[in-house]
Amino acid sequence: MTIAILAVQGAFAEHGAMLDRLGAAHFEIRQKADLARPFDGLILPGGESTVMNKLLRDLELFAPLKERLDGGLPVFGTCAGLILLADRVEGGERCFGGMDMAARRNAYGRQLGSFRTDAPFAGRMVPMVFIRAPYITQAGPEVEILAETGGHIVAARQGNRLATAFHPELTEDTTVHAYFLKMAGMGEPAI
Ligand code: GLN
Repeated sequence: MTIAILAVQGAFAEHGAMLDRLGAAHFEIRQKADLARPFDGLILPGGESTVMNKLLRDLELFAPLKERLDGGLPVFGTCAGLILLADRVEGGERCFGGMDMAARRNAYGRQLGSFRTDAPFAGRMVPMVFIRAPYITQAGPEVEILAETGGHIVAARQGNRLATAFHPELTEDTTVHAYFLKMAGMGEPAI
């Protein structure tokens, strides 16, 4: 099983390190030609969602990747990646969408730009690192809420799409990546 990591901008390298720890093969998607390699799941990393959205279109990655996602390819978006998967974006543009939810960009404001906390993800305590993070302000009935902290939804899943407002790849905890790998067909079925 192989996971592709979108690597046009942002914090993609840490995802690779996390997948190494879990024994999952991976490679980076930087240009259209990279899409020729087979992959069973996709990670959309943190970074700047507006820049990623533009680069995806400029590099002609948007349409083929959207087709794969709409066709059921498992995808995991962290932080900016969550924004790329939201059907509604407060303070930004919709990108791939597919999750019936609203994401508010830079939701924590300047004061709380970066912080770390611990909260349950799918019932298991995990460390969460937030960096100029969004949170989910509204979620439709098809969206399964996987984590909340400070009264806000910070992780959710809808079908083949998983999104976290925080960066699990910047911690030592492999829980969220392991959950995604199960979604993508590695190991036991996802909890
Ligand atoms: N603030 C960024 C955005 O709106 C997300 C930050 C991140 O990915 N760490 O796209």
